[in-house]
Amino acid sequence: HVFTKDEVRQMVKDEDIHFLRVMFTDLLGTIKSVDLPVSQLDKLMDNKIMFDGSSIDGFVRIEESDMYLYPDMSTWLAFPWGAEHGKVARVICSVYKTDGTPFEGDPRNNLKRVLEDMRKMGFKDFNIGPEPEFFLFKTDEKGNPTTNLNDKENYFDMEPADPGEDCRRDIVLALEKMGFDVEAAHHEVAPGQHEVDFKYSDALEAADNIQTFKFVVKTIAKKYGFHATFMPKPLSGINGSGMHLNMSLFSQDGSNAFFDENDKDKLSATAYHFLGGLMKHARSYTAICNPIVNSYKRLVPGYEAPVYVAWSTSNRSPLVRIPSDRGMGTRLELRSADPSANPYLAIAAVLEAGLDGLRNNLPPIHNVDENIYTMTKGERAEKDIRDLPDTLHNALKSLAADEVIKSSMGEHLYNSFMEAKTREYASYRQHVSDWERQHYLEQY
Ligand code: GLU
Ligand code: MG
Ligand code: MG
Repeated sequence: HVFTKDEVRQMVKDEDIHFLRVMFTDLLGTIKSVDLPVSQLDKLMDNKIMFDGSSIDGFVRIEESDMYLYPDMSTWLAFPWGAEHGKVARVICSVYKTDGTPFEGDPRNNLKRVLEDMRKMGFKDFNIGPEPEFFLFKTDEKGNPTTNLNDKENYFDMEPADPGEDCRRDIVLALEKMGFDVEAAHHEVAPGQHEVDFKYSDALEAADNIQTFKFVVKTIAKKYGFHATFMPKPLSGINGSGMHLNMSLFSQDGSNAFFDENDKDKLSATAYHFLGGLMKHARSYTAICNPIVNSYKRLVPGYEAPVYVAWSTSNRSPLVRIPSDRGMGTRLELRSADPSANPYLAIAAVLEAGLDGLRNNLPPIHNVDENIYTMTKGERAEKDIRDLPDTLHNALKSLAADEVIKSSMGEHLYNSFMEAKTREYASYRQHVSDWERQHYLEQY
């Protein structure tokens, strides 16, 4: 629902809102925000809030730095905390140029553009159900994060009076007060690791929700003396954190375009072609769905994260799993994405991959209804099952060679992304780590 100006004014009064937090997302997925006193409400609603784009990662050069924030009034909500110092409401914005056109370097505008292409192909919505995982680490006396975990629990474990559980319950309560439809919240496989799943929504809202979710998790964790991290692999030797993306396309008539009663697996031709696109472009969208050096420490065998480009209806190890739900719940679950991804860019990339599958009737290759981890290299080669990239460097190389996935970002975002990521990898490559000294200092 897009709130009208009058409705917003009424809510500000009723809920006693004192501050406005105006949010948008930069290239690297970091939430940026400007705090305004509520006296600026009209100016905000009239699209008159200006900021300096040259100080935002991946935005613009100094010469063209004036930018405007246009609030999306369907994203208005009040934070359920902070009453002591005046309540805060937030609104998510799109970034516009001084000439009144959407700024191409804004990841949110970019996702809207790709969704528009999808609508031109006759679909109504691309729905995303995200499953973000995170760790709760203890903080020290100064409030700085440590790598000490709070618990030794395991998947679905329940521990009475555990502060991690209390914290997670509080996160769920806060989200519900903010209008989230939380479907499940549970302890994950690794100690200190949690997952909260919320109901699917259309792609733009899902990306907004992911950003809000991270912010809520970090805010509530802090109150409990924890540091919540969405870093994909904070500790070696135990599972990392993924952000599985459950995806479905909906037709104009509101039906799920991936479902077909008459197919042996009850999947439509649309689902199979979309899958074909996800298989074909997997290595290149990995650069966007797994965008940091650390992402590739998670994509290794043995920790429930995918390593091979394959799909299955029966087994959890491949890149794409098709959960058993059918009808309206028919969906493809991409298991590689992790929560360090910029959700706007990641969703645009996987959608573009799927649409390419539809445009070109790509076949759904690489189906393996068996455990790929137990196959030998030769068996995988025989079935033409490729590996996901093993480093950010290799993922970027695949991206650079893939015009379809590049087009999911547009030129401005692609150039800024490549530049930032190439720099990031170069900096990592120059760093000599403890592992190297442990292994080589005495031996050589
Ligand atoms: N934590 C696992 C990962 O890194 C996923 C566990 C699960 O299946 O939910 O992807
Ligand atoms: Mg999980
Ligand atoms: Mg999952």
